Amino acid sequence: MVTILADEISKIIREFIEQYNTEVKIVNTGTVLQVGDGIARIYGLDEVMAGELVEFEESTVGIALNLESKNIPVSEGYLGHVVNALAKPIDGRGEISASESWLIESPSPGIISRRSVYEPLQTGLIAIDSMIPIGRGQRELIIGDRQTGKTTVATNTILNQQGQNVVCVYVAIGQKAYYVAQVVTSLQERGVMEYTIKVAEIANSPTTLQYLTPYTGAALAEYFMYRREAYPRYVFYLHSCLLERAAKLSSQLGEGSMTALTIVETQSGDVSAYIPTNVISITDGQIFLFADIFNAGIRPAINVGISVSRVGSAAQIKAMKQVAGKLKLELSQFAELEAFAQFSSDLDKATQNQLVRGQRLRELLKQSQSAPLTVEEQIITIYIGTNGYLDSLEIEQEQVEKN
Ligand code: ATP
Ligand code: MG
Repeated sequence: MVTILADEISKIIREFIEQYNTEVKIVNTGTVLQVGDGIARIYGLDEVMAGELVEFEESTVGIALNLESKNIPVSEGYLGHVVNALAKPIDGRGEISASESWLIESPSPGIISRRSVYEPLQTGLIAIDSMIPIGRGQRELIIGDRQTGKTTVATNTILNQQGQNVVCVYVAIGQKAYYVAQVVTSLQERGVMEYTIKVAEIANSPTTLQYLTPYTGAALAEYFMYRREAYPRYVFYLHSCLLERAAKLSSQLGEGSMTALTIVETQSGDVSAYIPTNVISITDGQIFLFADIFNAGIRPAINVGISVSRVGSAAQIKAMKQVAGKLKLELSQFAELEAFAQFSSDLDKATQNQLVRGQRLRELLKQSQSAPLTVEEQIITIYIGTNGYLDSLEIEQEQVEKN
């Protein structure tokens, strides 16, 4: 039950009007506006910091979580920078000028403000763009054990946005400083930092700041979404509040969009643990990366059989839709046959042909890091593969021809 204390609100408004033009007094007490579910909304705690304890009249104690009055600065000037959870630059490249500000925790757009996802967000990875397509404004989870290529899927997507009028916001939480620096350097070398913002709090930052990091990332991305076209990267209530902010805005609001590629690490491939199931239930699809597949040399290590994208195919271009259907079908038949063929020695010609085809299609989906393909290249590649033009080639030969 949530109660809004109307008297208190009108009292504050009256005070505001009375004090207009007079000097603002700094006080350390606030007024409770709303109480419910163990959460109190308080007005006037000008000096409170995130994570500090606050005392209520009846001597109960609370912890300050959402500093809603705290905005972060936003501007085009953030592009190319690495900032912390308070949107302060940490890349030693000077101050960032910003005349506007944005709420760290702003409400997500309602149903009326949204339109359905219809434009593709090309990752440049054939396996994803053809069979698990992502649309602008979608939330897609990238999930897998340690070292299965999760980050690489995201950084590849950033690389592929060159000239696409997309802004990328990459959020790194609790990672090692050298790793954060390494990713930035590689993005800089590829010339993609100019349309990218990195928000990072490293492993030894206070937990409250690490907690704020994705909200700051979402706020920076939102600023661009409402000015058309933006894109951010990287407990149930917290996750859903954060992910609901990804959206494709309605025509009235300019059709901007914010796509969320969330990353979750699993332990020994267990996707039924608490956090994975949570995030799976509030995203529009999942890209499953498997350690076995990664170790077998198939990279990106995407398990195409169980990965899904629930809204993205609406955003796929027509030519891709046509070739991808056949690819998906042939690959799933191949997966079944391959398991079965292990146990039998004499296979009929048709089965052998199907295995040959499947092996070659699987090769086609392999892609080295930082080598995104345009959608045209992807369509041609899939067409050649699914129509049997590669069946007569040796697998090693196929890799050479592709490169
Ligand atoms: P972590 O769990 O540590 O965050 P991760 O799942 O994000 O790891 P990455 O850091 O993206 O995984 O990749 C793990 C390693 O695999 C890296 O050394 C990366 O260079 C390599 N790798 C990732 N994708 C590919 C690929 N397509 N081809 C070759 N190597 C790859
Ligand atoms: Mg990673």
